[in-house]
Amino acid sequence: MIDCRSDTVTKPDQAMREAALSAEVGDDVYGEDPTVNELEARAADRVGMDDALFVPTGTMGNQIAARVHAEPGQEVLADRQSHVVKYELGGLAQHAGLQVRMLDADPRGIPTPEQVAAGYVEEDAHRPGTGLLCLENTHNVRGGVAIEPDAIAAAAEAAGERDVPVHLDGARVFNAAVALEVPVTAITERVDSVMFCLSKGLGAPIGSMLAGDEDFVARARRTRKLFGGGMRQVGVVAGPGLEALENVDDLAEDHELAELLAAGLDDVPGLSVREPETNIVLVDVAETGLDVEAALDRLRERGVLATPFGPTTVRFCTHRDLDERDVEAVLERTTAALG
Ligand SMILES: *Cc1c(COP(=O)(O)O)cnc(C)c1O
Repeated sequence: MIDCRSDTVTKPDQAMREAALSAEVGDDVYGEDPTVNELEARAADRVGMDDALFVPTGTMGNQIAARVHAEPGQEVLADRQSHVVKYELGGLAQHAGLQVRMLDADPRGIPTPEQVAAGYVEEDAHRPGTGLLCLENTHNVRGGVAIEPDAIAAAAEAAGERDVPVHLDGARVFNAAVALEVPVTAITERVDSVMFCLSKGLGAPIGSMLAGDEDFVARARRTRKLFGGGMRQVGVVAGPGLEALENVDDLAEDHELAELLAAGLDDVPGLSVREPETNIVLVDVAETGLDVEAALDRLRERGVLATPFGPTTVRFCTHRDLDERDVEAVLERTTAALG
């Protein structure tokens, strides 16, 4: 079976397993796990922030950020196709008492300054006020698109002019930086906080980082405890996380595989393929006459796993556990299954 469902399916490699075995550990709730402390310092440095917090999942990182930045009742501005809106179980409402004002940030998922301005609600006797702007890079649902630093800066500036903090859901922000060939700090320098996942393309078995200024991270640390995410001798997973941070440059290979995959899929009759920018390839199967579930069933029968991403859209994701031969096999099998 060739698994193209997600870059989360990557398994820890030998270096990570050894890092887990040899990690120095302590009780991280007391701040005494040296491996976690090193990971937090290095992660903060990577994204150009004062400090960072190790969290079990990206979802928890986003939810903590929203809770810290905004007050209950306030509104969060976010693209209607963003992860925080679609895939976090309404957590903004459940964990932070926030309501979402969705923006139609077509086609790339990054709101324009005008959209931010139009969505902004000023607090008064009747209106709750806007408490947060949440951006996403790469934007998953919109096809793994890599949002340019200028677009982030423009949206962030529109928020900043209104004293609205900005959180970046950067689950795959290193994919964006690698694809755009910019330092990741060019993307993160204009936001107040950023979450990124170690557990996706970077290959770690567990974990995400939430970074921001000192005050933000101090409050995020308390909120992580509140959410039940205070962990103990967690150096055993922070060790692999440190290894994962060394894998950033390898993401370029995932992007090349995605291009190879997209080019090949485009030759399959009936498939309409979106040109990938990073490691996500969206394929519309409508012209095959199949719906997404039928298409995925046929792929599975031939030994390929992918993800449903709409009524006729399939998402393929490349990652570090795939190579060119796997992609060639995916192309052969997809041609046989859907062509
Ligand atoms: C995967 C993902 C998350 C959440 O990460 P988990 O570790 O799976 O909770 C958040 N945002 C985006 C854009 C993602 O792709």
